[in-house]
Amino acid sequence: MLTEIEDLKAEALAALDAAATREEVESLRVRFLGRQGVITEQLRGLGSLPAAERPAAGQALNQVKNALAEAARARRETLSRAAVDAELGGERIDVTLPGRGQRAGGLHPVTRTLERIETFFRHLGFDIVEGPEIEDDFHNFEALNIPAHHPARAMHDTFYFDDGLLLRTHTSNMQIRVMAVQPPPLRVIAIGRVYRCDSDLTHTPMFQQIEGLVVDERANFANLKGILAAFCRHIFEADLELRFRPSYFPFTEPSAEVDIQCVICRGAGCRVCGHTGWLEILGSGMVHPNVLENVGIDSERYTGFAFGMGAERITMLRYGVDDLRLFMENDLRFLRQFAGGG
Ligand SMILES: [Zn+2]
Repeated sequence: MLTEIEDLKAEALAALDAAATREEVESLRVRFLGRQGVITEQLRGLGSLPAAERPAAGQALNQVKNALAEAARARRETLSRAAVDAELGGERIDVTLPGRGQRAGGLHPVTRTLERIETFFRHLGFDIVEGPEIEDDFHNFEALNIPAHHPARAMHDTFYFDDGLLLRTHTSNMQIRVMAVQPPPLRVIAIGRVYRCDSDLTHTPMFQQIEGLVVDERANFANLKGILAAFCRHIFEADLELRFRPSYFPFTEPSAEVDIQCVICRGAGCRVCGHTGWLEILGSGMVHPNVLENVGIDSERYTGFAFGMGAERITMLRYGVDDLRLFMENDLRFLRQFAGGG
């Protein structure tokens, strides 16, 4: 009987020692010490033993019972500690690991160009103005010497609303808004979104325009040329030749389109400039006397000049980008190339 008990103890201790989880320990405890457990059954069976064997057997069984209970508790504790250690180990942060290389954000290339243009004109003493994108016919057309029947309206591909309002087709509406409230002399730059019903490789329905206006007693075409030459030198960071071509805008007289020497081939001729060596970058001219009169400025005393350009076009030339739509697609592979530098 005692040998049997010793064997049972050895078997139970070995099983507990091999238990890999707390659940396994618990099921072993139930198997040996539970209400229907092996040891419990043995204790219950003591009565059927001969009286002489009972005390020794009872003592031995109780010892085994205590030893197993203690072994189960110890094993459970060991396993718990191991589980906690494993959990902590898994969550530990190694502060010595190198970072994952978070990239710094950057400004959109068009925003960069606008900021550069703004800074240039601020240094020349221009005020920066903004105005409504939803405009009325008077400020967008009528006051700019483009009456209802004027053929120039057809060039604008305007988005109209039902109530006579429209999405402005140029920032020239700001010429009227500024001159109506501010007496000359004035020097302003209007920057903002304009809209045209047009979409292809080089046109988008919305683009950003920059427009300059100077009205003074002696504002003249030489001033205009000087400002634009300095502007191109600043924006393209090169001494590029400028060319003024006679043109027509209803709100300026005389009017001129301004070309710069191609920034890619420096005048030799390439695909970008259509092998002409020149790139058209802006429109300009002396403010038409009718426009001055429309806002109550004496056109005998004051003269003015104005110029306008597309921010996206300048950005394309500045960075050598050949598809306007890239600026709208928000493709990070494209935008990241502009995250550094100016
Ligand atoms: Zn070229």
